[in-house]
Amino acid sequence: MVSSPSLPASISTPTPSSTPSQVVPFHTALGGALRKATVSILQINLGRRCNLACRHCHVEASPQRTEELSPEVCQQLLTVIDRFDQIKTVDLTGGAPEMNYGFRRLVEAARAKGKEVIVRSNLTIFFEPGYEDLPEYFAQHQLHVVASLPCYLENNVDAMRGQGVYSDSVQAIQILNAFGYGSDPNLQLDLVYNPPVPTSAAFSLTPDQAQLQKDYEAYLGEHFDIKFNNLFTITNLPIGRTKFHLQQHQLEQPYLAFLAAHHNPTTVDRLMCRNQLSIDYLGQVYDCDFNQMEGVLALKPDGTPLTVEKLLAIGTLDAIEQVATRPYCYGCTAGSGSSCGGSLL
Ligand code: SF4
Ligand code: SF4
Repeated sequence: MVSSPSLPASISTPTPSSTPSQVVPFHTALGGALRKATVSILQINLGRRCNLACRHCHVEASPQRTEELSPEVCQQLLTVIDRFDQIKTVDLTGGAPEMNYGFRRLVEAARAKGKEVIVRSNLTIFFEPGYEDLPEYFAQHQLHVVASLPCYLENNVDAMRGQGVYSDSVQAIQILNAFGYGSDPNLQLDLVYNPPVPTSAAFSLTPDQAQLQKDYEAYLGEHFDIKFNNLFTITNLPIGRTKFHLQQHQLEQPYLAFLAAHHNPTTVDRLMCRNQLSIDYLGQVYDCDFNQMEGVLALKPDGTPLTVEKLLAIGTLDAIEQVATRPYCYGCTAGSGSSCGGSLL
């Protein structure tokens, strides 16, 4: 079990006694369909290749996976980046996005158009052969780095992500700091906290983001002289490897009921799916990365799915009226809410 002994107390609640059938559909809890807003973020999942195989990974990435962007889809994405000024942010994820086809072409095209580029890096990739220049490359192109560090304590990180990941991550952050990340306003470095995957029915909400950031800053500053900008806390959704783990412990439905019992309507306006498109390595379009992993395609009002090629053909990125929601969406609205940018409140 991965525990977080020195983390601040999170909100614990006994598991509701409700059965799965008592979890109302997400759209019913919202009082209607979740409406899409104008798209301004293009999140691209470049592929499943990764140098790690983390226990909580919702995309089930690993060194054994081979799926990645094709040159054809990459070219379509380059056209979207070039043609649509409404895209303010290009968010590159994976897998380890740096290992998958098209990473540098997409970075350079988006930066040339003045867009913010986020790279979701696991940091340990810096120490893989052939990737040693990444910190310098990130700084040169002023990439916004969002990096996983699921706890500030070594034992917890290594238990969740693999032996030695913590010390590699610390060393990688120190390298980024040496290039100006965390201090230069143009070089933003944010860290991501993932809670441990539940192993018993004593579920808890994600800890308070602001307080946990203070704890990270204090510990990492004191022990490693590390600087970063923001900490994002992200709730584990019952999908992918997390779902599999929960099912093994007969906890999937109780966890879902727990999340539903903590649905917070004030988070809904800020849900990340409202203004982003999530694209997979095949060029298929989803409302978010979680839906992508579950194979829940974004749909046009006529019920047909979209691809990047189709978006280019119809000449608009705003072809979706309603976000495709599922019961796991409660993971994004429980408590303070959750997104790729952390808490929603
Ligand atoms: S580093 Fe990220 S993409 Fe890779 S296995 Fe871990 S969670 Fe998944
Ligand atoms: S999982 Fe979260 S981000 Fe994705 S569609 Fe549901 S509420 Fe939106």
